[in-house]
Amino acid sequence: MQTIIQNREIPVVGQYDTVVCGGGPAGIIAAIAASRGGASVAIVERYGFFGGMATAGLVAPISVFNYNGRRVIDGIPWEFICRLADIGGAREEKPLGNISFSPEKYKLIAQRMLLEAGVRIYFHSYLSDCKVSGGRISHVIIENKDGAEALAGKYFIDATGDADLAMRAGVPMQPVSEYLQPASLIFMLGGVDTDSLPMLRHSRQGVNYHDLKIREVFEKLRENDPSIPVFGGPWYCSVLEDGVVLVNMTRRYADMASNGEQTETECIMREDVYRFASLLKKYIPAFADSYLIATAPQTGIRETRRIKGAFTLEGRDYVNAVDFPDSVSRGCHPVDIHAASSTGQRCEFLKDAAFVPYRCLYSPSFKNLLVAGRAISADPVASASLRVQAACMGTGQAAGAAAAMCCGKDTDVDQVDTDELRSILISYGTNLTK
Ligand SMILES: Cc1cc2nc3c(=O)[nH]c(=O)nc-3n(C[C@H](O)[C@H](O)[C@H](O)COP(=O)(O)OP(=O)(O)OC[C@H]3O[C@@H](n4cnc5c(N)ncnc54)[C@H](O)[C@@H]3O)c2cc1C
Repeated sequence: MQTIIQNREIPVVGQYDTVVCGGGPAGIIAAIAASRGGASVAIVERYGFFGGMATAGLVAPISVFNYNGRRVIDGIPWEFICRLADIGGAREEKPLGNISFSPEKYKLIAQRMLLEAGVRIYFHSYLSDCKVSGGRISHVIIENKDGAEALAGKYFIDATGDADLAMRAGVPMQPVSEYLQPASLIFMLGGVDTDSLPMLRHSRQGVNYHDLKIREVFEKLRENDPSIPVFGGPWYCSVLEDGVVLVNMTRRYADMASNGEQTETECIMREDVYRFASLLKKYIPAFADSYLIATAPQTGIRETRRIKGAFTLEGRDYVNAVDFPDSVSRGCHPVDIHAASSTGQRCEFLKDAAFVPYRCLYSPSFKNLLVAGRAISADPVASASLRVQAACMGTGQAAGAAAAMCCGKDTDVDQVDTDELRSILISYGTNLTK
């Protein structure tokens, strides 16, 4: 491939104790935790709103805070849910601690809590590069309307979901899975008879909430017309408004960390949405009067890059809830692996709420970088549970608290006293006992 060299001077527009890249579930909570821990914090987000997959991908519900009715992911993540519920933007479904929510109210509460915590927000800013020397990141480079800008930081948290910062810094990544989980473009329908949708409330543990009746109809339709795209679920979720649902049923295999594949997938799936929306209207009575309100601003991404950290959490340990001396967060969602090119799904329920060791959040060769959310160091099985939003918030809280500790003690991320970190997280409300 032909290449060009372009040298440019980039202004350093800010200097912070901690720079969080990505404002999804992990990044929001990481930035609040770091700021409350005493660090000066900036958060960089490519869109003009927070929430990541929850808002830009219209991915709902927020799964899950509880195991057997006991809340295990707690602290700032749960405070966020309570703040959302206070303005009518969240509804808890027990015993799972599954949260149906309003994406618009989510954006508002996220930005309020970050501003209240004193976090400096850089919206519409794309993380494009970083400056590294001797295993330390000194700056991230962001691109926005003002051009390229550099933010200096003592510590960095990669919460981009795709490990964009870690990848640009040169952190080793997990080997690419043979089959990445598929991408799905979620769409919002109005005019739906929501009272007649049995799977709209996710209130029982050990149940897969796809709608088997609709699935059967679509399987038959596909038998007769193979041009109907492969679908998943379907799952639907309330946005707490009568007649309005988010539908999760499109699916396409793609490497969503490749811009070419992402672009192509986005275009194909927008066609798929139109097809599915019209088929739902035609064949499913509850959708007879439905109309398309919106497709998500971006296609939902289940799986891309994950770092190879100081420790890689394996599915076997995860499912069996093996506890670690440095456990800093939990996961309670089943291992949820969607087949890339069929309607299939592997769903394995956990023996107990799983544990996440701190060592999954950093690479041994990078001294001031933590990773939170979907891209932490886990194998495809453990990751297939840890990728859900409450678990991402949990690792965000751990990374934020750790970054603040590092700032306070001027220490490297791999030198953190994990007993002290665990005490801080327990004082926030995290449940780290079996
Ligand atoms: C179809 C689908 C269904 C799902 N179903 C559920 C479900 O039912 N329940 C559940 O809890 N979870 C579900 N998930 C998983 C969950 O939504 C995500 O895994 C989770 O949101 C990941 O959180 P995160 O904070 O790590 O990353 P993200 O939510 O992806 O957030 C990353 C943030 O970083 C920003 N960003 C990324 N790159 C850059 C960059 N270079 N520069 C600046 N900003 C950047 C993004 O804009 C985004 O705001 C589903 C996912 C998909 C795709």
